[in-house]
Amino acid sequence: MTATTSTNPFAIRTRETLEMLESSGQTKVLQILDSPMDAVVNMIDPDGSTHQRICMCSNNYLGLANHPDVVDAGIEALRTYGAGTASVRFICGTFTPHLTLEKTIAEYIGTQAAYTFVSCWNATEALFPTVCEPGDIIISDELNHACIVDSMRLSAVIKKGVKKGIYKHSDMDSAREVLEKAKNNPEVTGQIWLITDGVFSMEGDIANLPALRKLCDEYNALLVVDDSHAHGVMGKTGRGTHEHYNMFPGGSGFQPENGVVDIFTGTLGKGLGGGAGGFIAASQDLIDLIIQRGRPTLFSNALPVTVAASANAAIRTLINEPQRVQKLRDITAYCRQQIKSETKFEVLESPTAICPIIVGETATAIAMSKKLLAYGIFVIGFGYPVVPEGEARLRIQMSAAHTNKHVDQLVKALKEL
Ligand SMILES: *Cc1c(COP(=O)(O)O)cnc(C)c1O
Repeated sequence: MTATTSTNPFAIRTRETLEMLESSGQTKVLQILDSPMDAVVNMIDPDGSTHQRICMCSNNYLGLANHPDVVDAGIEALRTYGAGTASVRFICGTFTPHLTLEKTIAEYIGTQAAYTFVSCWNATEALFPTVCEPGDIIISDELNHACIVDSMRLSAVIKKGVKKGIYKHSDMDSAREVLEKAKNNPEVTGQIWLITDGVFSMEGDIANLPALRKLCDEYNALLVVDDSHAHGVMGKTGRGTHEHYNMFPGGSGFQPENGVVDIFTGTLGKGLGGGAGGFIAASQDLIDLIIQRGRPTLFSNALPVTVAASANAAIRTLINEPQRVQKLRDITAYCRQQIKSETKFEVLESPTAICPIIVGETATAIAMSKKLLAYGIFVIGFGYPVVPEGEARLRIQMSAAHTNKHVDQLVKALKEL
């Protein structure tokens, strides 16, 4: 007898997993949009009905996803260059818009050079397995993004002898302890790398970059920041968490005594246009090594040229119109203040545009987000395993595209829940 789809081990255990998720109310339903991402979107529900709803769960922080310049740049690039090169970059896969975008990113972040990938996930997966060698150690905040966790694991496999260290979330004493242990470990003979998210997406809290910089200097470690949730949000002109701490070289308030970040990873799939793409921004030498040796760069295609052109237009718009960042800050402050004063819900404090409301159980968060849909509000509930068990939440995310009226509608719905 041949194994059928219903009797092989994979089919049986998968059915069990899906049924467990279903019966415990943890199944994620993909919500379908039928319009551009903006303050208000058209949604198609599972029964086929269509609804206009306020979207408060996108990372479209600056409202650039549907900006005419961003859209036009993509169309123009598609017309000029076609769909792509049908090649990886080192063979014949690099268009001029890739170089333009990489120059723009380096200028925007404040590094010598930058290199783009199809996603930040991909960029992070390229980084550590390429730059690390046996005898190195990668030290990471325990709440760092999943792509960092996986990149560390991959490094340990590809470059046998690369070590890992984890410190307690944003705990500088714990980070020092892990660094001290690394220093005293005879097997750590190479480079110490320390990586943190700039903005932690589930709480909206930020890493203490000046303190981490000092620690890294003390232990001769390189500081890597994944600032994906900070682009367009943090700092006076939206350069990122480093600008927030006056660590953006060339920025108006730059304080050299705070030091600078050595290496950045980031995404083009959030505030910077929201299409897709990621990057590493660092020294020219590091970027050159990535070009020569990175497995995702050697064996996988470039960011599509249309997306590269759109992302470039998005970053240019941000650089030219920094007032968008203040607009985001104002609407976020209004949202926090209204939730606190008008509803019974607690919203976590944060300098970012992320406003999480903790509700407890995963099923509660999912049920609340379902109910909000009926009130014309699109907010997603996050539960285990994305956040710890018992800390499920509704994560409200603000955009410069929102107005006070959108916030008022959210508050009205929260009151009636
Ligand atoms: C969203 C996010 C990513 C993933 O970005 P993609 O470009 O979608 O792969 C990576 N790191 C952090 C910290 C993020 O928030």
